[in-house]
Amino acid sequence: MPLSLKGKVAAVTGGASGIGLATAKEMINAGVRVVLIDRDEAGLTAACNKLGENAIPLVIDLLDPQSCARLLSGVLEKAGQLDILFANAGSYIGGDLTDASSEGIDRMLNLNVNVVMKNVHNVLPYMIERGAGDIVVTGSVAGHFAVPWEPVYAASKWAVNCFVQTTRRQVKDHGIRVASVSPGPVASALLADWPEENLKKAKESGSIIEPEVVADAVMYILTRPRNVTIRDMVILPSAFDM
Ligand code: NAD
Repeated sequence: MPLSLKGKVAAVTGGASGIGLATAKEMINAGVRVVLIDRDEAGLTAACNKLGENAIPLVIDLLDPQSCARLLSGVLEKAGQLDILFANAGSYIGGDLTDASSEGIDRMLNLNVNVVMKNVHNVLPYMIERGAGDIVVTGSVAGHFAVPWEPVYAASKWAVNCFVQTTRRQVKDHGIRVASVSPGPVASALLADWPEENLKKAKESGSIIEPEVVADAVMYILTRPRNVTIRDMVILPSAFDM
């Protein structure tokens, strides 16, 4: 029997687009009030207008340390509680390492790794005090396989994978579940940064899934009975060769 999420409050980072937006939509359909967090104010406003009154926008540039540190207080101010954190925002750099800029590497690692850690660090004392909570992090299949054409991105997701597994064990006795969802290629704005040739091949072979598929997986994780943790879920297009 799936656990009901009715009346819960979730915070979804990267909520204005792609996987975050699709997951916010499914959460709202399940009776959750969702605080969508993004730096893209226009995208956020458009998304929340479409999703209705249970979609609450919170504009934060997660790469701005002061703004990032206001995640929990912002959510509590707007929604009064926090039951679920979906730490999903991320960015992508692919291609040869020699072509990457140091600034690009810093920016991506900051968002994909440090920000995830800081968001979780920000909400944990609150969840520990309540003795309950769910944290789901968006990893990637690239965090489970050393993808040769994206050394920096893949390394960021390996770090996140390790962070999920270690943190889960630190907080499991506080009623808090920590999980990761690790998709293969998903049709979203993020893929615009893929090497053109790889994107063409993936499209031609049907090896791209829709964001809704990942949203379903997140909902599956969240709706297991509380004594069950789905720690890692890897979701691939069936045609994907990895
Ligand atoms: P997306 O580009 O559609 O969405 C990312 C969202 O994050 C955007 O709304 C963007 O505005 C927001 N964002 C970016 N930087 C931000 C910042 N500094 N502060 C606040 N918000 C910021 O991409 P997506 O595919 O939905 O990606 C979501 C997650 O899924 C990422 O962690 C990504 O690594 C992961 N992922 C994506 C794919 C894929 O193929 N698309 C595959 C595996 C994993």
